Amino acid sequence: MNKYLTKHELEQVTQLLESAYSFVKNGPAPQLEESLLQYATKLKNTMANSAVAYRENLNCPTCDFENNHIIATLTVEDDDSYGTSQIIVNGKYSISARVKYGFRSQGNIHILFSCESGHFFIKSYDGHKGIVFIDENSLMDELVEYLNGFNKNNEDAKWSFDYEILGQIESFFKEQVRKQRLL
Ligand SMILES: [Zn+2]
Repeated sequence: MNKYLTKHELEQVTQLLESAYSFVKNGPAPQLEESLLQYATKLKNTMANSAVAYRENLNCPTCDFENNHIIATLTVEDDDSYGTSQIIVNGKYSISARVKYGFRSQGNIHILFSCESGHFFIKSYDGHKGIVFIDENSLMDELVEYLNGFNKNNEDAKWSFDYEILGQIESFFKEQVRKQRLL
């Protein structure tokens, strides 16, 4: 299988070439200077002109691992005044919970992933006032923190959805309800 550089890696290589160029600029090696500049410019143009020059994989934000699995989707139903009414997992399991929500939702989807080292993370999309916010959902951030509390080592890593993870998601929301009742 081909190994592609990520966009981030490509940007880093380009930056490195550019700083190398400024280092040798006007120095004793004009040929090196010239070829560095040509190569940096070529890479830069490739990135600017081509959508297929690189592939942007999703890496684990904790350990940068590229092997990740989609575990579940979550959708929040809200009460139209910055609170949740229920959370739907995988489009079919409903968890009733009234907790604070940072959005008056115009549609939302949260995808729960696990890397093969056992770190959970969520990609979050929240429609709100005509804008789609990405990864700005503090409730999902707290859920990730909670779920990661259960996984202490690689053997606990999940590669697919199961009822244990559903139970953990449910217990997180129940705990949130309890906490907010105490406020
Ligand atoms: Zn990881």
